[in-house]
Amino acid sequence: MTVSIRFLGAAGTVTGSKYLVEHEGQSLMVDCGLFQGYKQLRLRNREPLPVLPNHIGAVLLTHAHLDHTGYLPLLAKEGFHGKVWATEATRDLAAILLPDSGHIQEADADFANRHGFSKHTPALPLYTEADAMRCLKQIRTVAMGRPFEPVPGWQATFFGAGHILGAASVLLEVGGRRIVFSGDLGRPDDVLMLPPAPPPAADTVVIESTYGNREHPIDDVFAELGPALQRCAARGGTAVVPAFAVGRAQALLHAIAGLKARGELPHGLPIYLDSPMAIHTTGLYGRHMGEHRLDASQVQAMESVAKMTRTTDESKAIAMQHGPKVILSASGMATGGRVLHHLAKYLGDHRNVIVLTGYQAPGTRGATLAAGGKTLRMHGQDLPVRAEIVQLTAASAHADANQLLAWLRSMPSAPQRVFVTHGDPDASDQLRHRIECELKWPALVPEHGSTWPA
Ligand SMILES: [Zn+2]
Repeated sequence: MTVSIRFLGAAGTVTGSKYLVEHEGQSLMVDCGLFQGYKQLRLRNREPLPVLPNHIGAVLLTHAHLDHTGYLPLLAKEGFHGKVWATEATRDLAAILLPDSGHIQEADADFANRHGFSKHTPALPLYTEADAMRCLKQIRTVAMGRPFEPVPGWQATFFGAGHILGAASVLLEVGGRRIVFSGDLGRPDDVLMLPPAPPPAADTVVIESTYGNREHPIDDVFAELGPALQRCAARGGTAVVPAFAVGRAQALLHAIAGLKARGELPHGLPIYLDSPMAIHTTGLYGRHMGEHRLDASQVQAMESVAKMTRTTDESKAIAMQHGPKVILSASGMATGGRVLHHLAKYLGDHRNVIVLTGYQAPGTRGATLAAGGKTLRMHGQDLPVRAEIVQLTAASAHADANQLLAWLRSMPSAPQRVFVTHGDPDASDQLRHRIECELKWPALVPEHGSTWPA
């Protein structure tokens, strides 16, 4: 009997990572992610899986981002009772992200019901905060590099993927086949994370392609961020920095601590970290020393450079502070969260600066600002944009096309086939093309729902 892989997500798109590996009546799922973004994709979260959840033997999580973990509470609610294997840092991050996701699902359903948007009345949340809390109990942690047996007779090993705290690639050995799943690969020159480990020999590779059609410019977050914050402080303005709570916010705190230490920012310039999730995540770096590039004094500097505003009252009090300051707050594309209040207050004054810190998906407020929009829709009003807009190119958490190819090239021997997933169609296809032309390895982009021999 052959070993097969069913591509139940992240095939032809970036989100919804779910790969079902099957062999002789047993199976496990690598990643259990939510589809995010356009409504067409989000509706897939409500379609039944082609396999009964209680027939799945185990779940392996490569990292905690919701597009890799956010379906887990639903899978568990619908009958999956097996173990979920993850690194310790991934478990710690999932314990922050999944309950928050449940909370958002409940709030969205509630909003739809009150405003009568829902076609299914009443709108039901995909899962609740309580569902998310419950599924966390199924997680078993395992160290990088230590083989474990998720399903009887199957062996799996996590190895470092860079990307975010706890992120891993997986080697799965089953039925005489060796399959490597890249997970999301970080960039080798990341300011916080260690470079991805070279992959072991394998018959089959499943690789991400988020930036399969792009090369990052030289990464220097200090050189990009410093001058923008200096200019703003010098004219007495406030810098509002929408930042992704996991990874990006910490990279920015680390950069600001460095800029202050080098005298490139006034020592007394007040910095605020105004996102409960980012505050929680920042606390995890000290608990997972050795899994990132920072030493104890750098972790200390990162944690102490900003005033952490946990409560809503503390958050509101920031607006009473006159004079120059920097506010880091989520969400990173200004789609929701506390950053909206800060944007509403500071957008209309030319002394201020809004620093966009990463990819801004089409249709988000972040994308409108990045495109030079003269007004921004906020809380039902079009507010004039007079603040300076700066978009950082540095600090992406994903390897670019050359780095993805270099990772493959570092394998001890050529695999029989590479599946290219986790990218927009153009990005996946360009990476597939380069793998075939430059490495001369067979590669393909699997279709959503398709099954292939591994
Ligand atoms: Zn990710």
